Amino acid sequence: MKRRRVVLAAGAAAIVAGVLACGGPPSANAPRPALPVATTPAPPPATAQPPPAAAAVHLVAAGDLGASWHPGCPVPPENLRLVDVPYLGMDGKPHIGQLIVNQDRVEQTITAFNELFRLHFPIQRIQTPDHYPGAEDELSMEDNNTSAFNCRGIPGSSEWSQHALGRAIDINPLLNPSVYKTGRFEPTTAAQYLDRTRKDAGLLHDGDAAVRVFTDRGWTWGGHWADPNDYQHFELP
Ligand SMILES: [Zn+2]
Repeated sequence: MKRRRVVLAAGAAAIVAGVLACGGPPSANAPRPALPVATTPAPPPATAQPPPAAAAVHLVAAGDLGASWHPGCPVPPENLRLVDVPYLGMDGKPHIGQLIVNQDRVEQTITAFNELFRLHFPIQRIQTPDHYPGAEDELSMEDNNTSAFNCRGIPGSSEWSQHALGRAIDINPLLNPSVYKTGRFEPTTAAQYLDRTRKDAGLLHDGDAAVRVFTDRGWTWGGHWADPNDYQHFELP
């Protein structure tokens, strides 16, 4: 389904302040206004390699969200945004990924991914969970897919996860599993990454610059939790 681009800014070091309509002349069903967003400009990466493209924010409708949203979810589609973010791939090249977050976390999300890019922190892939059958989180995690919004509960609980509110992001989830005191872990294919002394690119450790990108800005890191140690998880409730 076509997504309407509502905010466009040049470069990953974006200051998003305008409202632009792209993809043709305005129609009677003009894009709804989006809140202006300002992000902290990031200095360019240490290399001459520029970010790959513009950071952009798009409105979404229920049809864009596939199985990741259903009636009864705590946030309606009109309060969510599809955000293009830059990232350095495991191939060492710049890419653009897409995350869905709450409209009130757009600015913080763009800032965080600009910073991760500046740090050359590698990410496998960033695509929305509707790319996986049933938007099943286990499949997304096994694919080491970085994602944010998904209307799902906290495992083993009747409460909504912050992912269901669009206020949590999981980074390289195969490399950074969620590990429970019982010994269970997610994704189920992550056994080799239970050893947190590993130094593979893309792993997150306490005190890493990539972790501080979030925690220095008020996000909570699941790696600091007692149960589970949710190494992939950052949330800003
Ligand atoms: Zn998470």
